Amino acid sequence: MGNIKERVAYLQGLTQGLNVNERSAEGKLLINIIDVLDDMAEEFNNIQMVQEDLETYVESMDDDLTDLEDEVYEDIDGEELVEVQCPSCHETVSFESSLLESDDDLEVSCPHCGDIVYDSTLEIEVSNMDNGQAVNSEFRYGIHPGI
Ligand SMILES: [Zn+2]
Repeated sequence: MGNIKERVAYLQGLTQGLNVNERSAEGKLLINIIDVLDDMAEEFNNIQMVQEDLETYVESMDDDLTDLEDEVYEDIDGEELVEVQCPSCHETVSFESSLLESDDDLEVSCPHCGDIVYDSTLEIEVSNMDNGQAVNSEFRYGIHPGI
């Protein structure tokens, strides 16, 4: 953009060097055109500075968003998962343990066969993912989830 300003300055110098002045109609026209060019170059310069400020601002917003995403997804990753074994197809089905703390009636269905693997109204105990071996033996009815 500095290039445009330089070129306009060169034209302004040229009008003086060539003795172009406002006494002739053409001279008046040329000088006015070059004035307009000078204003435009100035305006471009301002727009470019605003643009750079905006880019900096958007970059900082993007950084902030990345930080926020890291924090939010870290929380989700830290979510404890529980596993149950599907009584129909014996596939292991996992879901977030926070679902168990909900007071709403909850049914979790098996993604493999569609059967209900967990029903909060039945108060099935589910075990933690870490001791997956124990899933089957702890799969009893009538015991409140101890989570
Ligand atoms: Zn199943």
